[in-house]
Amino acid sequence: MADLDDNIAKLAPHLAAIGEADILNHINGQAVPAASDAWFDTTSPVDDSHIARVARSDARDVAAAAKAAKAAFPAWRDMPAAERKRILHAIADGIEARAEEIALCECWDTGQALRFMSKAALRGAANFRFFADRAPSARDGQALPSPTLMNITTRVPIGPVGVITPWNTPFMLSTWKIAPALAAGCTVVHKPAELSPWTARILIDIAEEAGLPHGVWNIVNGMGEEAGKALTEHPDIKAIAFVGESKTGSAIMAQGAPTLKRVHFELGGKNPVVVFDDADLDAALDAAIFMIYSLNGERCTSSSRLLIQDTIADEFETKLAARAKAIKVGHPLDPATEVGPLISEGHRRKVMASFDTAATEGATIAAGGTRVGDTGQFVAPTLFTNATNNMKIAQEEIFGPVLTSIRFRTEEQALQIANDTAYGLTGYVWTADVTRAMRFTDGLEAGMIWVNSANVRHLPTPFGGMKASGIGRDGGDWSFEFYMEQKHIGIATDDPKIPRLGT
Ligand code: NAD
Repeated sequence: MADLDDNIAKLAPHLAAIGEADILNHINGQAVPAASDAWFDTTSPVDDSHIARVARSDARDVAAAAKAAKAAFPAWRDMPAAERKRILHAIADGIEARAEEIALCECWDTGQALRFMSKAALRGAANFRFFADRAPSARDGQALPSPTLMNITTRVPIGPVGVITPWNTPFMLSTWKIAPALAAGCTVVHKPAELSPWTARILIDIAEEAGLPHGVWNIVNGMGEEAGKALTEHPDIKAIAFVGESKTGSAIMAQGAPTLKRVHFELGGKNPVVVFDDADLDAALDAAIFMIYSLNGERCTSSSRLLIQDTIADEFETKLAARAKAIKVGHPLDPATEVGPLISEGHRRKVMASFDTAATEGATIAAGGTRVGDTGQFVAPTLFTNATNNMKIAQEEIFGPVLTSIRFRTEEQALQIANDTAYGLTGYVWTADVTRAMRFTDGLEAGMIWVNSANVRHLPTPFGGMKASGIGRDGGDWSFEFYMEQKHIGIATDDPKIPRLGT
């Protein structure tokens, strides 16, 4: 495997090229600056160095992108699904061909470690293939005959849609949202996160080189409150697929209300990993560590609350603290790195503020709790023990490599603590007792639950959260439910026996 120096050398030409080209919008097949010619900068959290200027869009750019998406919609909707399928597979081919470049650029822009990002690029291609294969059946419906009618259902794409994505794993999340929209026959205006806009630019170039018609997919860069807000308010945009913070989801719902926007939200989490004393404790330890410290803990599905049975808590927490201290924090392009820098200085400060909160609230910082180095946005993997579920460190999403450990005595108490949160995205349960697993998962308020497993995504299954963690589900056919309108058509098969008025 290439070492750090090799990877830095491989990144260099891409970095030089994007610095030269700027990160432009993409509207109707053209790379264009914002109408206002305003810009902002994107920097790397590795060393705070400049990557590129980025177009800072406003409502005018959103209007131009929405116009292009609206104009392109009828032809894309009516294209034979087999042809749409072919184009989406060609996009997946293009992603695979440039997977290494995508991974390197994503690491530099976000701070995520290469060991995870190389897989994320390939998962992006898999998302396109999965939905490409389903494009031909997206419109399929049912026959529901009644005594006088042949009732049939069909689905049609809803129209141009807006996709708004966060900064944590931007490439993978963009493909996850955009591939089903395109497969359904919708056209797209994408607003990438302002902190990590680079790989969205690569992705759209790949898509158009693969034969995607101009205007089917457009990108408008910029700030959430400017470009993002304008997108959610635009009358020609029929639905908004949003991934980000819960409070932004609330704002988007309000912004979209006057135009009755359909919304799909994938929001925050404070997900419990519940470990009972009969579990395979070595596997549970590995999973608890992986699910909070991988992807820098900047992961909506991270297991940020450990609920540990009191009989095994001392030993489990001791081992966990030792492993957290041994995690390799470093340059994201170093293949050995397990945790890279956080996305931005602002986010690092927010994560580090939780260290002070933990101390103030009376928890123990059993590992980490410090910055690493004095350049770049690195923090040490952190473990809080002696915590209770009413503390802020147990209730608020920190979105970093920070785990809060809470002890419980009984199963009933574990369930009460697990559900005592505003969020309901994922839950992880470790026990050898299958009856308990069934009972516990039934009561657990979470959209996705894994038993004796870390989070393993299977694309046909539903992805999404309850409570403040989201509205709606992705994956399998659920994605098409969002991006399509369901229609019913009733055709008379007998004398319709219509009551005669006015005779
Ligand atoms: P964020 O909500 O700050 O921003 C997300 C996107 O929304 C960005 O593109 C931003 O520009 C845009 N935005 C901000 N304000 C807007 C507005 N008023 N109108 C329209 N768009 C607006 O989130 P973030 O900080 O980028 O990402 C981290 C959050 O995302 C965390 O809470 C995390 O849990 C969540 N997340 C959830 C999932 C999931 O699947 N549930 C996946 C990844 C991340």
